[in-house]
Amino acid sequence: MKVLIVGAGPTGLTAAVELARRGVIPTVVDGRDAASLFSRAVGITPKSLRYLEPAGVAPRLIEEGIAMRAANVYLGDRLAVTIPIRSRHAGFPYLLGLPQDRTEAILAETLESFGGTVRYGLRVDTVIPQDRGAVVEFADGTVDAFDIVVGADGVRSTVREAGGFDYPGIDLDDPWSIADVDAANWRHAGEFSLFRAGPGRVVIVAPIGTSRYRVVATTPDALATLPVPMDVTNVRRAATFELAVRQTSSYSRGDIHLAGDAAHCHSPVGGRGMNLGIADASTLAAAIVDGDLENYSPIRHRVAAEAIAMTERGRRLITSRRRAPARFFAGLLAMLRILGPLRRRAGRFLVEF
Ligand SMILES: Cc1cc2nc3c(=O)[nH]c(=O)nc-3n(C[C@H](O)[C@H](O)[C@H](O)COP(=O)(O)OP(=O)(O)OC[C@H]3O[C@@H](n4cnc5c(N)ncnc54)[C@H](O)[C@@H]3O)c2cc1C
Repeated sequence: MKVLIVGAGPTGLTAAVELARRGVIPTVVDGRDAASLFSRAVGITPKSLRYLEPAGVAPRLIEEGIAMRAANVYLGDRLAVTIPIRSRHAGFPYLLGLPQDRTEAILAETLESFGGTVRYGLRVDTVIPQDRGAVVEFADGTVDAFDIVVGADGVRSTVREAGGFDYPGIDLDDPWSIADVDAANWRHAGEFSLFRAGPGRVVIVAPIGTSRYRVVATTPDALATLPVPMDVTNVRRAATFELAVRQTSSYSRGDIHLAGDAAHCHSPVGGRGMNLGIADASTLAAAIVDGDLENYSPIRHRVAAEAIAMTERGRRLITSRRRAPARFFAGLLAMLRILGPLRRRAGRFLVEF
């Protein structure tokens, strides 16, 4: 069986690893000249670690990552509640903090250990669906036929467009920002922290290495929005980014299948994007090998639709500039502080919704 995976982000690499370990070595291409050094996702959920365990990827991620075992929520500069993180996935009772480029590097090395490889610097120009399989034209002028094409080529997916898939949704107005920093003596070194700095102003801080942190904000300047002091010794990277909330209606058309951001995108609130992609890819790889592709689209569409709805509810609640949602959020935090069982449920919900 000839399988082409377009895109070597976390989704494409997971699909490749999961196929290769089952004996189907796919062709994997990525338009970039080399592996990415930029990191977007930093939080790997227990469920993703479970998916990545059989190939031996999870232990390597855990070895390098930071196990975040608690989430702190602030109103302004006041700590409102600390929620211990829990999980029903035994062995991984935490959210793992690791820069996305390291996750990708470990996946790529694992792919090589199974006999696969990524061809960087090779873009797919177009995909022409056939009665069976698809013909693919590459940017270097070569043309090849494949039994199955997996579009794991991100938000601006060529495969999605060429395959005639839709991608309905909205673009959000205000840009968000990100800063990757080194900082000394941060108050929550191994933990996740969320600050509601003011109306519409939210900052998230997550550890991604020793004394290294990812700061994300709903404003154009992440560090300036942080309402508590942070002793930043080095800014490795700072940037703004645009957000969209979109999902394709169907993940499959004939022998072309979409996975990851090519099929869905949303805000980083809840840290689900990459994790959904890893789950799409694992499910798709198993379905390809088992010859059972009919259920892939309905199952993964439903899971992502629920995650997007939840993510959007969370984004609207914490970023609202109106008084009523702000009061509701403060009341919720007060209840979490007082009620242990509710706090424990919240600790599981944070990594498993
Ligand atoms: C600031 C920020 C923070 C985030 N934090 C989190 C988090 O904590 N947890 C989480 O789960 N998610 C998070 N996300 C989302 C996460 O980064 C994405 O969901 C994830 O990168 C999607 O992976 P992917 O492999 O589907 O797509 P991508 O990572 O976009 O990879 C697509 C690949 O396809 C290649 N490509 C594109 N077109 C072609 C073509 N025509 N031919 C060949 N190759 C092509 C590209 O070069 C690229 O390498 C965050 C996002 C942002 C912006």
